Amino acid sequence: MKKEMIYEGKAKKVYSTEDPEQLIVSYKDDATAFNGLKKGTIAGKGVINNQMTNALMQRLEAAGVPTHFIRQLSERDTLVKRVTIVPLEVIVRNISAGSFAKRYGVEEGIIFDAPTLEFSYKNDALADPLITDSHVLALKLATPEEIERIKSMALKVNDELRRFWAGCGVTLVDFKLEFGRLADGSIVLADEISPDTCRLWDSRTGEKLDKDRFRRDLGGVEDAYREIMRRLRAAG
Ligand code: UDP
Repeated sequence: MKKEMIYEGKAKKVYSTEDPEQLIVSYKDDATAFNGLKKGTIAGKGVINNQMTNALMQRLEAAGVPTHFIRQLSERDTLVKRVTIVPLEVIVRNISAGSFAKRYGVEEGIIFDAPTLEFSYKNDALADPLITDSHVLALKLATPEEIERIKSMALKVNDELRRFWAGCGVTLVDFKLEFGRLADGSIVLADEISPDTCRLWDSRTGEKLDKDRFRRDLGGVEDAYREIMRRLRAAG
């Protein structure tokens, strides 16, 4: 089914298929952090991220959020709709952590009264800088209608995922989404939803069950990915 590799990113490869509107995404075990400065491998990560992304995307579809997901082909490979990625990282936060805590000089773990939403401009050469709505418009990265649609979809995703993970004994701290345009111009959720792109803390112990274990050399990286996948499976 795979024709040729058309793109290789940090964690995934993308292949064309016989259908120009469909692509195959293949998840790797490669891990990077700090804009590619730190590199490594997390054994089994690709299999987990593929399966977790697909399970969560199907839940989101059922909740009324359109996604690029078509069907899983194998442990690491998934058939998706071809989109043009909107070059924004859409970050939703429920609790302070990571770059938020660093930027504002606050501790991690502050529970917000309402989720926050921010955009970063997807641009490796510039290290994905934070970007305002008006600058998104100035650079013609998205239209005003697309910005509103993306924001409301991202908050809906937060509502759904927060509730789902809470049922697994996991706190959804923050996460990054990417959106794409289908051939007809409509916006769908794309990319992945995994421990690489979400902060997930054990609700009881606060233990980190996500890529921060790799970023911060906390050890037990593979075990954390396996544990979060076990919780997702147990939720059915
Ligand atoms: N994130 C991501 N890719 C990025 C930057 C952030 O998936 O290039 C995710 C990250 O895993 C976390 C959330 O977005 O769940 C917020 O990340 P933050 O802005 O705190 O940046 P970080 O501390 O990861 O550099």
